[in-house]
Amino acid sequence: MIASSSAERVREIRRKVENGERLDFDDGLALYAPSFPLQELGELANLVRERMHGDVAFYNINTHLNPTNVCIYRCRFCAFRSDLRDPKGYVMTEDQILQRGQEAVDNGCTEMHIVGGLHHKMPYAWYRGILQTLHAAFPQLHLKAWTPVEIGWFEFLTKWPVRRILEDLREAGLGSLPGGGAEIFHPQVRDQICEHKADAHKWFEVHRTAHQIGLRSNCTMLYGHLENAYHRVDHLLRLRELQDATGGFQTFIPLAFHPDNTQLSHLQKPSVLDDLRNIAVSRLLLDNIPHIKAYWIMLGIETAQVALAYGADDLDGTVRHELIYHDAGATTPEFLSVDRIRQLIEEAGRVPIERDTLYRRVQRDPTNPRHWWVDHSEASAAV
Ligand code: SF4
Repeated sequence: MIASSSAERVREIRRKVENGERLDFDDGLALYAPSFPLQELGELANLVRERMHGDVAFYNINTHLNPTNVCIYRCRFCAFRSDLRDPKGYVMTEDQILQRGQEAVDNGCTEMHIVGGLHHKMPYAWYRGILQTLHAAFPQLHLKAWTPVEIGWFEFLTKWPVRRILEDLREAGLGSLPGGGAEIFHPQVRDQICEHKADAHKWFEVHRTAHQIGLRSNCTMLYGHLENAYHRVDHLLRLRELQDATGGFQTFIPLAFHPDNTQLSHLQKPSVLDDLRNIAVSRLLLDNIPHIKAYWIMLGIETAQVALAYGADDLDGTVRHELIYHDAGATTPEFLSVDRIRQLIEEAGRVPIERDTLYRRVQRDPTNPRHWWVDHSEASAAV
């Protein structure tokens, strides 16, 4: 039973959403409160989602590349990193990286997502060279690479400003930036989980600069560890503010924390209800970011499927070679076939549409699905 003041708050927020009015900080806190019924929250988020995308749900055919797990940093939530001399540590050779590129093209991938550790000994030229090598060999593959944490590290290595680094990486083959490294922006939490790495100011500087030079990017929030509702709303509204200024974000991806093998392994991972609430609140607060992604690797397939009715319009992709969250105990498969991902979307009552990294619709030759092209017809515009 909802207390009358809570019921009033729910009615007021419903009115705002139905009228297309922007929600504020206090509304965000109210949406996160357990007294705001999840079912009603989902209904409102679905209303906005269907207003923006109708019945469509997007997916892509992609692969991941983590060229090294050796990292100078020790983020408390990270199970992926390795010390320099730890037997678990690895650095991929150029041949291994090229093999991965070939495998991606053979599997019809349109995108390679590239992130990794900050290796103590590898120079900037090594990171740049990964993009250059892949782009020269497989120009059709979109390279979505390096978070602001890595760009901040390149700044340290090169002593160049962010803009010059991004322009240099674009010349080497960079297509867009992934959304990682955001974690939780508020210093009350950030200082406890990753105080040494790029702070909120650096994260926003990198994305703002990327947008200013015409690169698109994604954004994320790692939730379910030490943060509370205040920190989550603060995080989402900081993203909304930059999007108002630049319009360069394409997708927001809420990332559920997985505690296994991390320094925070005593924590429980977020519940399914928390996952769904986060998706829905994101859709309602981030009224200027076109897409909300239910990243099935972290949410689990079933929750991601339900999330398509709670505000999400994208399931990410087929994903091969995901290591970062599987090291932290994710029990999802390491790969979904195209048929399976389409089936999951159809079971959820949505229409599956393959997109490329920039959310343009992809067409494939039915006799040779590895052969694909972007459909530029106006009727097919995905965003
Ligand atoms: S999250 Fe990234 S920066 Fe932090 S320890 Fe892991 S690999 Fe290094």
